[in-house]
Amino acid sequence: MVLPTLLSRRQPMQSLEISGFRERPDADGRLLGHFPYSEAEADQLIVFEPGIELNVEAADALDTMMRSASAYGVDLRLLSGFRSLALQESIFFDVASERNQTAEERAQVSAPPGYSEHSTGYAVDLGDGRFPETNLSQSFQDTEAFRWLQDHAARYHFVLSFPEGNKQGVMYEPWHWRYQGNADALRLFEPASRFSRRDP
Ligand SMILES: [Zn+2]
Repeated sequence: MVLPTLLSRRQPMQSLEISGFRERPDADGRLLGHFPYSEAEADQLIVFEPGIELNVEAADALDTMMRSASAYGVDLRLLSGFRSLALQESIFFDVASERNQTAEERAQVSAPPGYSEHSTGYAVDLGDGRFPETNLSQSFQDTEAFRWLQDHAARYHFVLSFPEGNKQGVMYEPWHWRYQGNADALRLFEPASRFSRRDP
């Protein structure tokens, strides 16, 4: 299959042009608050469970973390992992159109294509299997799974990307974590990490 390979190498700026999206990145490279990320190479991805791919090392760490959570009686679930640029484009523009949102409004809850941590294969959306009604909702912060993650995720090199009141101005996402346990991930997320540490 030739087509998926070509798609996976597509560069983000092109898709924004095609969609007639006029916003320009800031001096720090951010677009509507989000840092740019290119798409993971196919050979760095592994199917973690049916329909969800992750970076190989992030998958390994997540597997270990989930087993540990389970030993504490916490039912961690993976809801979303790697997203292709094409899928992120659809999530951003199609849903914005469906909900009659402007790009600015949409960017508070979803990254524009080319600007999602999910494109790297290192970001995960996590849920609590006992409280599926809190999936992808801020009420996830009241679950055992979230409290367990707050206490233990750092040990497995997972970091909460968009905490409450984050300086990027992205909506609080208690379910969205990124893996920073190898040199590649550290390098990719360095601008976002540095930005979150800077003085107001
Ligand atoms: Zn996410």
